[in-house]
Amino acid sequence: MPELPEVQTTVNGINRRVRGLKIIDVWTDYDSAFHARKNNIKNKDYFRKVFRPNVLGNKILNAKRRAKNILINISGNHTVLIHLKMTGHLLFGKYRKITDNKPFGKLRASNTTNKNRKEKWETMEKGPLRDPYNQYIHLVFTLSNRKHLVLSDVRKFAKVLLLKTSEIADSPDVKTIGPEPLDNKFSKNVIESRLMKKPRAKIKTALMDQALIAGIGNIYSDEILWLAGVGPERKVELVKDTEWDKIYKATKTILKAGIKMGGDSLSDYRNLEGKKGSYQNFHKAYQQTGKTCSKRDCRGIIKRIRIGGRSGHFCPKHQK
Ligand SMILES: [Zn+2]
Repeated sequence: MPELPEVQTTVNGINRRVRGLKIIDVWTDYDSAFHARKNNIKNKDYFRKVFRPNVLGNKILNAKRRAKNILINISGNHTVLIHLKMTGHLLFGKYRKITDNKPFGKLRASNTTNKNRKEKWETMEKGPLRDPYNQYIHLVFTLSNRKHLVLSDVRKFAKVLLLKTSEIADSPDVKTIGPEPLDNKFSKNVIESRLMKKPRAKIKTALMDQALIAGIGNIYSDEILWLAGVGPERKVELVKDTEWDKIYKATKTILKAGIKMGGDSLSDYRNLEGKKGSYQNFHKAYQQTGKTCSKRDCRGIIKRIRIGGRSGHFCPKHQK
């Protein structure tokens, strides 16, 4: 799942490539009965009556990030909120809509009806936008330069909705989120006091709790704890003062490195150009099970454990 560095990479890409363009059309094939009556474009009525009319004709002013949410501010006091969830990522380039006339499954051609005619989008560009992970396009903004901002999302878990820009801070998706670890105001005291709200939780679980601290997920929590030398199963209340300092510093260092590398593309994440980030090449713990720990003179063997339904990776020798 994209975490803070991946979401920031996408936000930076939007500000560089898409800012100032006007939205002249919007299309989606997200449609889920589970989302009926919800504020989410997977609810067809919401898309048609709320989302579409309020984005059409408006200009993309800028993009911001809050935790793992992408906030695209548009003119008319509206903001498009996109949470990429498991496999979503935004792409920018030239696309065209094609209508797939092939009937689904084992239906014969003679049974083809309008219902079986499926619209889909493909890029007209060569290069990384053709990466297989970039082909699951379920949301398309047609922009005033005739290029497109699209959302590729193989598992279709992404969340997209529209908010009044002035009401973002109070919206349910944003108001419960903890502080941003790359903010200037973030400090050792902030991380310690936030995580100490759940003193009995395991430190890895607490680091990933968006209500305590924003933007950290499975990959970066493993890497932060490896660098800080603290075991993922340690109870928050048992973290020592000197270790809080190490966790604080490691959090800044690791997240900044993730952004510098353009995010982590071990899984589906791609940047706005459809290219991979490179942080996956620098993992010290995450998915390094069985490898020798790369901390100097440590020689521990990275181990995988289950923590709160997620997998955690750590070095049992230098992370206690
Ligand atoms: Zn080690």
